[in-house]
Amino acid sequence: MHALKRLSNLELETNLKDFVQKERKLLHVILEHIKEIDSRKLYLERAYSSLYEYLVKEFGYSGSAAMRRIEAARLLNEVPAMAQKIQEGSLNLSQIGELSRSIKEKEKTTGQKVSSLQKRELVAKIESKTTLDTQKELALALDLPVKEFEKQKIQQNESLRLEITLSKEQYQKLLQCKDLAAHLLEQNHKDSSWASLFELLADQYLRKTFRQSDTESSKVVASKVDTTKNANADDTAVQTNSVTPCKIDAVVNDYNKTLTPKTRRLILKRDTCCQYRDLQTGKICQSTYGLQIDHKTSRWIGGGNEARNLQVLCGKHNRYKYSKEAGLVINARNLRR
Ligand SMILES: [Zn+2]
Repeated sequence: MHALKRLSNLELETNLKDFVQKERKLLHVILEHIKEIDSRKLYLERAYSSLYEYLVKEFGYSGSAAMRRIEAARLLNEVPAMAQKIQEGSLNLSQIGELSRSIKEKEKTTGQKVSSLQKRELVAKIESKTTLDTQKELALALDLPVKEFEKQKIQQNESLRLEITLSKEQYQKLLQCKDLAAHLLEQNHKDSSWASLFELLADQYLRKTFRQSDTESSKVVASKVDTTKNANADDTAVQTNSVTPCKIDAVVNDYNKTLTPKTRRLILKRDTCCQYRDLQTGKICQSTYGLQIDHKTSRWIGGGNEARNLQVLCGKHNRYKYSKEAGLVINARNLRR
């Protein structure tokens, strides 16, 4: 970098302009690559449960940088003209992030999809605008309320100070919850603060989700069961899990029965997270979202219900594994859910 010291002001500026131009071109190429990886679901093959996690952990992007690139890559699909604007510098990742969030908000509030034509028009409207003007333009074009940002700050004891704005409807819903849960809050938390109410609601949601993942896994298991008989009780082809407590095998050694809730609980307790492994790198997914019980060797090709043939997979990897096994064309929409 000492060579820079010897450059004239004009040379320095010309060089910088040239590099910025190259940087924008490179950004477009990166987005095209992300778009292709997204369509191939390559991150699932590499044992990541989402494209976001793949970009953060495999490529070292910060969370917000990864999210902006994913949003931009997905919008590029519908508005190919964005490519030119990114390269020219009249559209940047912050603007695309604002655009993507505004479209999601509009679709959520109206329950209707924003069309590709509307998206193209929105891109034209925000071209060459600042982030603030982009926000205003989008709020106006999509008739969105201007929202205040949420503030959050980690304090010295690792607690979080959170400042949020609630709509009138959200506030009333939460007040209603607070009234209904008054006795539980008093009984379990000895107070009726908002923090205690959020904790109570989160506990209930997590319990419900956990129960649902149990139910979903039995559906997945049922869908994989074929008329094929599982006669071979001692399947030596099945890999032994490194942490297989004997007592789990003791309760699941009946091959002809479907999994019991007790077995599912034991396997979830043993594995604790998604065990999908990328055979190339050895990486294990480890997602704890939407966990389901999977047969390593599927029931329909002779796999049994013994603990060493069972593993925990996240919902995405369970569907991905099944699609691959069944030779199905992966339905990108199903996987993105
Ligand atoms: Zn997974």
